[in-house]
Amino acid sequence: MLTVAEAQDAILGELPTFGTEDVAIEDALGRVLRQSVVAERDQPPFDRVMMDGIAIRHADFAAGRREFAIQATQHAGDAVETLDAGQCIEIMTGAELPMNADCIVPVERIEVGGGVAVVEADYSAEARQFIHPRGSDHAAGAELLAGGTRIAPMDIAVIASAGQPRVAVSENPTIRVISTGNELVAAGEPIAPQQIRLSNGPAVVAILRQHGFDDCTHDHLVDNPALLRERLAKHLDEAGVLVLSGGVSMGKADFVPGVLSELGVRVVFHKISQRPGKPMWFGVGPQDQLVFALPGNPVSTLVCCRQYVIPALCRASGIPAGKPEFASLAQAVTFKPDLTCFMPTRLISNAAGTVLALPVPTNTSGDFASLAGTDGYLELPREQNEFPVGTVIPLHRWRQP
Ligand code: AMP
Ligand code: MG
Repeated sequence: MLTVAEAQDAILGELPTFGTEDVAIEDALGRVLRQSVVAERDQPPFDRVMMDGIAIRHADFAAGRREFAIQATQHAGDAVETLDAGQCIEIMTGAELPMNADCIVPVERIEVGGGVAVVEADYSAEARQFIHPRGSDHAAGAELLAGGTRIAPMDIAVIASAGQPRVAVSENPTIRVISTGNELVAAGEPIAPQQIRLSNGPAVVAILRQHGFDDCTHDHLVDNPALLRERLAKHLDEAGVLVLSGGVSMGKADFVPGVLSELGVRVVFHKISQRPGKPMWFGVGPQDQLVFALPGNPVSTLVCCRQYVIPALCRASGIPAGKPEFASLAQAVTFKPDLTCFMPTRLISNAAGTVLALPVPTNTSGDFASLAGTDGYLELPREQNEFPVGTVIPLHRWRQP
């Protein structure tokens, strides 16, 4: 049986790199950038005035002048004026510094009347004050965003400032989320006492969408090999990624691995030494489709989706491997089996800036209601059984950073 690390490596070894497409900046939020974004111009593109007021020559001020005839008014976006000696230009925030000016006196420090600005008597002005020099943020051609960035709202500002109405992003794969099980009944449908509400499908679709993979639809299939064969063949034809839940254990109705093999999906592994989620199955279809078959227990499904499916899709989208995160146990944990334990947890950070984990053990891997309010899960290493308070443990947030 593979370890968690071996299973991750095995998946990495099979990953394609998704194609790219151009999208308008309005549609780029949450997508993965597949180009670098470079500065169109120096930033600021000119010596930029930072206060409303007057632009003067500091030499005039240093020589004792406090009254300046107003030569012109220059707003942001106006063509640049040339300042004459002994005069001033009324200036607005965001305007280009007038030629020959090298000092801004804020409007709060002057009185204006009869076409003359008078500076407050005890005001002292420094040369170059309230001027944001050209290129002081970055130079034209500087790389502002690297490929592999998941585009956040501030990145949208950077892309717009670089003058790009469109950007190249990773193409989202078409994903089919497939719940298997005779017992499953969707919310809104009448349910018999022996039946179970279908909860994995909507949750898996949600976690995929939360990570920007929005081309996903859900199907529910009963445990019938002929039907599974027919419908999975269609899904393999139409989608690049299949995420199944249920039907991968050793029960008499666990037909998923057999049917996938019949359809030409090559098994990469079946089972990982972990709890929850030990029966997880992964394979690659005839057209290189990625097929993740997750155990049906809801805690297993969600943990395996976050632990294996999300990182794989992020990597295939061009996102580089992230930095590992850690939390310090605020409560001791014991876990005896010779398996990696994924332990749901809440997180708090203390005044010292440490991220503390408050483990939320689930009753069983069917106890999905306990997951509500958790922030992620801890990866308790297999080699250890006792984890005292203060042990630093690898952490996976439900939302991969
Ligand atoms: P299986 O992996 O098919 O043996 O399912 C394991 C357990 O998870 C069973 O108790 C199923 O009823 C339950 N289960 C399977 N799929 C789902 C689902 N989509 N939503 C909720 N529970 C499920
Ligand atoms: Mg089942």
